[in-house]
Amino acid sequence: MTDVSAARASLSRSYGAFINNSFQPVKGPVFAATAAATGEHLADIARCGKDQIDAAVASAKTAFPIWRAKTPEERAACLSRLADAIEREAGRLMAIDTLDIGRGLWETGLDHAIAVQQYRYFAAAILTHEGWGRPIADGYLVAKREPYGVCGQIIPWNVPAIMAAFKIAPAIAAGNTVVLKPDEHASLSTLELGKLIAEIFPPGVINIVPGFGEEAGAALTSHPDVAKLAFTGSSEVGRLISAAGAQRLVPVSLELGGKSPNIVFPDIAVADMDAIVDNVTFASMYCNGQSCLAGTRLFLHRDIYDDFMQRLVASMRRIRVADPTNSYPLLGCLVSEKQGRRVQSYIDIGKEQASLATGGGRAEVPGCNAGWFFEPTVFETTNDTRIAQEEIFGPVLSVIRWSDYDRLIHDANDIRYGLAAGIYTNDLASAWDTADRLQAGNVWINNYFNLAPGSPFGGFKESGIGSEFCHETLNMYTHLKAVTVQT
Ligand code: NAD
Repeated sequence: MTDVSAARASLSRSYGAFINNSFQPVKGPVFAATAAATGEHLADIARCGKDQIDAAVASAKTAFPIWRAKTPEERAACLSRLADAIEREAGRLMAIDTLDIGRGLWETGLDHAIAVQQYRYFAAAILTHEGWGRPIADGYLVAKREPYGVCGQIIPWNVPAIMAAFKIAPAIAAGNTVVLKPDEHASLSTLELGKLIAEIFPPGVINIVPGFGEEAGAALTSHPDVAKLAFTGSSEVGRLISAAGAQRLVPVSLELGGKSPNIVFPDIAVADMDAIVDNVTFASMYCNGQSCLAGTRLFLHRDIYDDFMQRLVASMRRIRVADPTNSYPLLGCLVSEKQGRRVQSYIDIGKEQASLATGGGRAEVPGCNAGWFFEPTVFETTNDTRIAQEEIFGPVLSVIRWSDYDRLIHDANDIRYGLAAGIYTNDLASAWDTADRLQAGNVWINNYFNLAPGSPFGGFKESGIGSEFCHETLNMYTHLKAVTVQT
């Protein structure tokens, strides 16, 4: 049982940057971490800028030759110890995330379980991340993988534990050192990670610098000693990060936005329909819709449309919207007023441009007056409307009727994003054909959010560049060097 009050009490009063294995004294400007649901002040956080980024990069640069010289087994052992420490602390860390960002405890618990999996996955993967060699005329060729050096990493607020793990684990497994900037709306659990890191890693291997994007973020992306940039967030900011990398010609990996199609074929058995409805509901409402992967465009075939819609509306209305800390609801609140106003504006647009099937209002949750809680909202629409084309990042699903297969494929791909897709059918041949034709980095057949460790995670089109979560990610964090020996 998670003790939210104890987790709250365990927070430091203020957090400075975590550099060289210690928290810096908080001297300059700060910003407040507040509970998303209640508005309660949780802690002050240093609003870091260029000076702290300079110090963190210097520390990571000094640590690099020491960390790089460790064997893969030694690095793997540290990663495994971090995984164990997070697992031990998970109850506390998940409660901190729930307070900070307003998502239900069962969800933030899942985040930490996935984070633990990531550290363990890369602890194992690095042991088989090998170069290759072969004899050549009068000699031998060795192609070896080498870390870049200091990696500058920037993450968003929606799933902070997962995002931190996605970035830190592969980078340090490969022998790099890291300066990570968490999001200004969700810095607490990442900063708390510093307390665990200090017990396990040599100083400077992992540094965490909180602050705003335009200040700490921009200082990190333009720093001359940062050898590799990795970013997760919106496509708009992704362009800025990419431009900063291009200025200095350093590699940039990007995990960006999504507006993913979830496609239901007419051949699904009626007996399976409720399970598919549950899956579709989860795909769109998990994380309060604040997930880059969310299946927010539901393509329903006309032959099953009415039956499916009836069950879907009932499923959405069964969802409890509640205080994220007291119960295990599916929907807590959105992360911030800014996000709440954004979602509200899309619901208003939807009411003008589409037909509202259910929801469409804010939900009152006693004791959580600061929270932006929304009813799960479903619109019936077409693929060309703004609510179907733009990433809302809230509990809003657009349903689109389809009948012609080629038109379906066209519409599913007719979007700037290409992150994920779902397909529900009993016909494996057509599922395979559809998977082949969809422009998406992740395609799930008869499921959604099926992310086994090692499953490549990355986007097509404006959803990003590069793949995380998999063995290939280690290539993203290493150069390939050829050494030839003449004998
Ligand atoms: P955002 O792009 O506004 O912010 C993300 C991070 O970038 C934050 O840490 C922020 O401080 C920083 N940042 C902002 N401006 C910056 C600048 N000029 N220079 C450097 N850093 C800067 O994104 P958001 O709105 O907080 O997050 C939601 C977005 O993230 C959505 O589009 C979502 O789809 C995407 N996302 C993608 C994935 C994925 O893996 N593909 C995962 C989670 C979220």
